[in-house]
Amino acid sequence: MKSLWNAGDVVACNCPNCRKVVQSRFELRNIRMPRSRLSVPNVLVDVCNLCDSIISIPSQSIPQLREAGWAK
Ligand SMILES: [Zn+2]
Repeated sequence: MKSLWNAGDVVACNCPNCRKVVQSRFELRNIRMPRSRLSVPNVLVDVCNLCDSIISIPSQSIPQLREAGWAK
């Protein structure tokens, strides 16, 4: 299993928005949690190619979010 992702990597993923398996890509994005005013720049996330929503945040990005104050 690949443990580290890079921006531009493409995977097949189940998108909760599209409700089907889609191709998704890893991208660096500024992300913000709905419940929080914090936004974190340049976080590697998994983005749906069809609807452009964030499907998941890979575990390698979690320390970055923790550092920004998002308890998980
Ligand atoms: Zn989608």
